[in-house]
Amino acid sequence: MNNFKKFIKKYFSHFVYFFQRLRYRIFIAMALSIIVGALDGLGLAMFLPLLQMVDGEGGDPEAMGSLRFLVDGMEFLNIPLVLSSVLVVMLIFFILKGIAKFFESFYNVILTRFFIKELRFENIDALTSYSFKAFVNSDVGHLQNTLSGEIGRVVGAYRAYFKVIQASVMVLVYIFLAFMANPQFAILVSIGGGLSNLAYQQIYKKTKENSNQLVKGNSGFQGQLIQIIAFFKYFKATGLAKIYGNKLKITAENIEAIQVKMGWYNTLLQATREPLVVGVVIGVILIQTTLMGQSLGLIILALLFFYRSLTFLMALQMQWNQFLNNSGSLENMTSFMIDLKSNSDHFGHVKIKCFQEELRLQDVNFGYGEDSKVLKDINLSISKNRSIAFVGESGSGKTTLINILSGLIPIDDGKFFIDKIDSMNIHIPSYQRRIGYITQEPVIFSDDIYNNVTFWADRSEENVSKFWKAVERAAIANFIKELPQKDRTLLGNNGILVSGGQKQRISIARELYKDIDILIMDEATSALDSETEQAIQENVDALKGKYTILIVAHRLATIKNMDRVILLKNGRIVGDGSFNELKSSSEEFDKMVNLQEI
Ligand code: ADP
Repeated sequence: MNNFKKFIKKYFSHFVYFFQRLRYRIFIAMALSIIVGALDGLGLAMFLPLLQMVDGEGGDPEAMGSLRFLVDGMEFLNIPLVLSSVLVVMLIFFILKGIAKFFESFYNVILTRFFIKELRFENIDALTSYSFKAFVNSDVGHLQNTLSGEIGRVVGAYRAYFKVIQASVMVLVYIFLAFMANPQFAILVSIGGGLSNLAYQQIYKKTKENSNQLVKGNSGFQGQLIQIIAFFKYFKATGLAKIYGNKLKITAENIEAIQVKMGWYNTLLQATREPLVVGVVIGVILIQTTLMGQSLGLIILALLFFYRSLTFLMALQMQWNQFLNNSGSLENMTSFMIDLKSNSDHFGHVKIKCFQEELRLQDVNFGYGEDSKVLKDINLSISKNRSIAFVGESGSGKTTLINILSGLIPIDDGKFFIDKIDSMNIHIPSYQRRIGYITQEPVIFSDDIYNNVTFWADRSEENVSKFWKAVERAAIANFIKELPQKDRTLLGNNGILVSGGQKQRISIARELYKDIDILIMDEATSALDSETEQAIQENVDALKGKYTILIVAHRLATIKNMDRVILLKNGRIVGDGSFNELKSSSEEFDKMVNLQEI
């Protein structure tokens, strides 16, 4: 059984890939192709009695090889073997084939859409379950390219693969029919077809190599493109845009060079396949007539079948190469999904309905990689509805500590308890639904203010009043009321320009709109002018006692009224107390405060 599995994996891995997603549907599609091929073949077989009539042989049933059952069948049904009835039977076969073709083609459309949907769903699930820790260490260009551009190429691979299956089915059906009509002819052409395929092996190999390179090139290009967009201001301000643009151009040039190579092999295949196929046919006819002395009728019938069969063989070769063109993407997608899935989040089962008592870290050590520790011996308890600021120089571990407290990154050394329950047993998303997070870069969606704050809640009376309460508390209500379109004003790429401070206040409003227990602010006040800073500080002060507030602060003025200030240094907690307590007990904190002239 194991060996069988290995064999299937080795030779049918692509089939397995599609089969896992489409299951029995693949076989329905194949069965439809077989029906189409068989009906087409039977229709064609009716040419034989016709040819014999032209020959004046009067339809000798013996001349049809094993296909004479068709003529027998007509006799059985009392249909006379004359021109008109043969033509009518032929027409019936082709009408039936047309109907079967309709179902076959439409079923393929359904199957393709189904496959694309499955693929997208699978990607979305894998991405949304991807762990944050793996994400921060991943290649964003690669992620983006695989999730967007590569999908199209995987679908291209799928389409080509199915055409290969269809063409193979057709080739087999016609070879089978030809075999029934004229066995020697069938064997000879099969050998010829097989040999012509061998001639293309080298082309297939090269195409596959180039396809893999293309995926790498595209990922690199996406990565560079993302950076130019992310750091656009910097590039423009420093005159580096053009220089970086040239780097991008080189990557684009390399990609196109690979595409040209692939195009060269495709063209070679296209141009040579017909002479090769005609060569095979001519060779077989020569052998048949000169060496085997076959009757003309049988040769013509077999020729018809073979002409069909070889047409499909050519299509098969073309589609196979087309498939190989995109096979790199298929392999990339497969390994990408394995990577995403092996780095997915794993959660416990205990759901947190609301945060009630205490967050506690016990003997926590943490590092992003194997060697260096970013957090060391952290012991910390945070009671509900207390407000806590984390301070310390850049790189001291504040963000990492907050990431752990918010469940973004799991710890492997030490314990994290939420309301005395070990976080390992907790369904972390249920806990995270109780958290409002205001990131360093405010998150603004390209939509109107209402949707930005309510996260697309419907405009019920209750939601609208909740919205105004939230914007009021975030000190942005007056600004919104003065806009001509008020809460329907568009923000983001296609909307109005708002200042950094306003963006931050909208982000705060979004968090306040939600029903949360914990409010986390990551340097949320760093981009504000001093007036707004004071307004926000007042707002945060107003929220004190109502929420558990965790702030990563650089502007020490904003945290004067926090219940507790925790000072970090090189990943250790070196100070803990109220602002004033810490100022007198920690020389370092005192220095920081003096530097900011507070
Ligand atoms: P702070 O918020 O105090 O500036 P951070 O928690 O962001 O500090 O970073 C603490 C340390 O962890 C720094 O030395 C930083 O280089 C390191 N670090 C942060 N993120 C990663 C990451 N994704 N991979 C590896 N090291 C990281």
